[in-house]
Amino acid sequence: MLLPPTPAALRRAAAALKRGEPVAFPTETVYGLGANALDPEAVRRIFEAKGRPDDNPLIVHVTGLPMARRLVKELPPEARALAARFWPGPLTIVLPKRRSVPDIVTAGLPTVAVRVPDHPVALALIEAAGVPIAAPSANRSGRPSPTRAAHVAADFPGLLVLDGGPARHGLESTVVALGDPPRVLRLGAIPFEELRKVLPDLVVATKARARAESPGMRHRHYAPARPLVLFRRSRAALREALAADPKGLLLCADADAPLFPGRRPVKLGGTPVEIAHGLFDALRTERHGSVLLAYALPRRGLLRAVMDRLERAAIRIV
Ligand code: AMP
Ligand code: MG
Repeated sequence: MLLPPTPAALRRAAAALKRGEPVAFPTETVYGLGANALDPEAVRRIFEAKGRPDDNPLIVHVTGLPMARRLVKELPPEARALAARFWPGPLTIVLPKRRSVPDIVTAGLPTVAVRVPDHPVALALIEAAGVPIAAPSANRSGRPSPTRAAHVAADFPGLLVLDGGPARHGLESTVVALGDPPRVLRLGAIPFEELRKVLPDLVVATKARARAESPGMRHRHYAPARPLVLFRRSRAALREALAADPKGLLLCADADAPLFPGRRPVKLGGTPVEIAHGLFDALRTERHGSVLLAYALPRRGLLRAVMDRLERAAIRIV
């Protein structure tokens, strides 16, 4: 059930959360499927509803530093510097957790992932519920993340969804763990280069390390409407594949479309911001076709995170 985020709808959603029922809500990244983070039974329902593997921890959403402090043992200076610059916003920080955070939220890890969403409806909902909200993306596990309320309704008929319109970023938060060195465990809506301005020794964790430290990185993700094959920036190989399969759907940035004449592409967008925004919509395309043949993007700024998602969505990389 889609509801515009009126004060009455917010009260209703907050009441549902307090009763331990899941509610979907908009954030600036993608739509989240929320539960009271301090109620293990409510959190268990989120895992069940999504079909999410129980080793994949959830991000806990808070209204600001005071609420974050109640979840973590300490806020080291690096965390405070990141929070001062990027909260509210699409940055998730992994910190040692307090005992009050149920183990089911963190999949048994001694750390908890925390962020302050930059969305008035998300903030109003947390405020009204009066508790931190654990929320993964509001899609069935393995499907593309929902950037519109209708995507949520398609995956969860009957669920209460606060409809805040299309998500502003359309790409999930960047996940950072502190330590020596501080590292990006998941690329996301805040580009690595931006984070480095605050933490100059930040690195992007190798794939192996990200998988070891961030269980979500081990699982298959973002399975699109049709199997996706990702072509590195070799036009010849992609042209050949398109010629061999007239039903193959080309997926590419607007600027790359003229490289493959005669094919109407599923366009991702023009600028990096548009491309990040168009990605999950494109992966849910309803256009008729056999496979999605995607043309790689340059690994810079925001597009580096988009490439991470395409690689994890692909059944094959050529
Ligand atoms: P999602 O909610 O599906 O956007 O995914 C949340 C991401 O945050 C996954 O990649 C998780 O592995 C990661 N994450 C959540 N909690 C932790 C944690 N305590 N340590 C490391 N990574 C985490
Ligand atoms: Mg997700």
